[in-house]
Amino acid sequence: MVLYSMKMRASRQENGQNQHISGAEKILAEKELGENAAALLSRALHHAKGRADFINLKIEATEPDEITYIDALPVSTFHAATPEDGQQAICKFLNKLGIQNAAAIMHEFKNTYAMRGAMLLDADTLERLEPDQERGLRATYMDAAHTPNRQADDCKNHFQEAIVLASKVVHAPHIIAEICMSDDPDYVTGYVAAPSIGYMRITRLKAMGCPDGGRIFLYRGPHEDVPACISYLENKKVLVRNVPSTPQAAWTADSWEPLKKNLEQRQRAKLYRKMKTIDTPQCAHIAVKGQDLLMLASNNYLGLIDEARVKAAAISAVTSYGTGSGGSRLTTGNLFLHESLETHLAAFKKKQAALLFNTGYMANLGIISALGTKHSVIFSDELNHASIIDGCRLSQARIIVYRHNDMADLEARIRSAAPSSGLIVSDAVFSMDGDIANLPQIMKLAKKYHLLSMMDEAHATGVIGRTGHGIVEYYGLEESPDILMGTLSKALASEGGFACGSQLLINYLRNTARSFIFSTSLAPASLAAAEMALSVLAAEPECVVRLRNNTRCFCRTLNEEGISVKTDSAIIPILIGDEGRAMDIAQRLFEEGIFLTAIRYPTVKKGSARLRAAIMATHTESDLIAAAHKIAAIIKERTGDK
Ligand code: PMP
Repeated sequence: MVLYSMKMRASRQENGQNQHISGAEKILAEKELGENAAALLSRALHHAKGRADFINLKIEATEPDEITYIDALPVSTFHAATPEDGQQAICKFLNKLGIQNAAAIMHEFKNTYAMRGAMLLDADTLERLEPDQERGLRATYMDAAHTPNRQADDCKNHFQEAIVLASKVVHAPHIIAEICMSDDPDYVTGYVAAPSIGYMRITRLKAMGCPDGGRIFLYRGPHEDVPACISYLENKKVLVRNVPSTPQAAWTADSWEPLKKNLEQRQRAKLYRKMKTIDTPQCAHIAVKGQDLLMLASNNYLGLIDEARVKAAAISAVTSYGTGSGGSRLTTGNLFLHESLETHLAAFKKKQAALLFNTGYMANLGIISALGTKHSVIFSDELNHASIIDGCRLSQARIIVYRHNDMADLEARIRSAAPSSGLIVSDAVFSMDGDIANLPQIMKLAKKYHLLSMMDEAHATGVIGRTGHGIVEYYGLEESPDILMGTLSKALASEGGFACGSQLLINYLRNTARSFIFSTSLAPASLAAAEMALSVLAAEPECVVRLRNNTRCFCRTLNEEGISVKTDSAIIPILIGDEGRAMDIAQRLFEEGIFLTAIRYPTVKKGSARLRAAIMATHTESDLIAAAHKIAAIIKERTGDK
């Protein structure tokens, strides 16, 4: 299909001088010519700058194969507070392109004002390269590539036209950037564009009322190629695809850019996260794409996820109560299963009452944000789980972080904060290190300074204490902290979280914990599975003994191999340090049939990446011993320690 280039220039005589009124150009199909010619004439005749008395409308046919299609530059906006701010942004942009004398280039704008076209400037020597320095250079023959049935618009879209022009200009041979400042005294927005960086709008590039303006094309290349560059700018017919119609439309596209950059940066720093698909239950052995692997990363400590009684309870709950709970318990009521599980959890933890949440994460968020008021202070261990940290952030309390399990530091901080009310909160078993909080001392300090105490028993329930009752049993204490929080998702083989404490505490949380109030409660299958797992644990504490023996066996073998590890729970951190190396070792282990995840920043501190082994009661000793030998061998191979 033949296309037509249409150009309009309008001017008028004033005081014997030819004053430019408006100019525009389009590349159009034949059927669009009439409507667009009328629109451009109307623009020339009804322009804010005055009525044109000379209008040049030029229409030329062009063959389709003369047209080059290019993509619009990606658009971003720099919000400049002052013109200096805007000019500095341009200088930074130019510096990124390796241009050393950006300030001197900006200074050249004082010479563009009287020019009709653009200045072609050698980016390094600042030599003027345009043959006619009064006329300057005009980039012409370009338009946005539109959809076939577009409407002719007589309202000039400066934004689109600028992007079309800049996209064409920076595609010219040896042009490395364009800078533009409008000569309209009322229009202070300008831009800088380059192929590698895109089109950056600068919201303020000059003072309001300032008539300065112009364009500078920056050239870097052999001077004998200048004519080819000029020929491209003046004669090449270019249609630009994907031109956003408004800055807002461009922002929509642009608003993903920071996310892309963030992910790219994570990839470079070896912090990008991916998931593997597992084809079996989370048991001691799993299958991934048909490969058998020893699972050493699961929190299914007691192996109850695939236990016959637990699964049967879940299935029977679905048969009796269906698949969902239908809403928040405050609006749609309790199932018997909710009440029964709460009663059993409270009894297991030797507390008056319990309240269920949908996950352990939501339990911490709900409990801590409900307890932390404007007038209180929360003292939180520096290695606490992210859900505790997020609960603290959501609360209105002042947050004071104390050194990991350092009771002298905790007391010093309590003394200096001298709070009238507050909470000490800690993981019972630290999720990435496997060590245990100093609960006796925490409770002593809580009492002494009239604070509440809270333990997160996510990795303690079913794991520590002679019969798996958790941290209070582990220390053999008569009394327990004010709040025992836990999760149903680890040793209890289901999902969900809970708080156990006094009836007063539970009534308060039921009324104020937003993650409890505003979320649909746990489904019947999850409730029944957790309750059955809890009864198996209570009736068969020997599974806890098996877990402990397995953990000892695994640690002993690693230590014999010279890999120093220790734990008080079922979590065994194998410290590697460097993120990339930890990933590499985890990948090698995977290839060798061991599923052991590398834990990296932000879950742990930068440079303290580790393999976090989690042991199950259902592992066999022989599997654990063989795995420990393999792990040691691969670590030595990858760290050059033979
Ligand atoms: N607290 C700790 C210490 C945890 O390790 C976890 C889970 N990783 C949670 C809370 C959150 O529990 P859930 O997985 O049930 O959301």
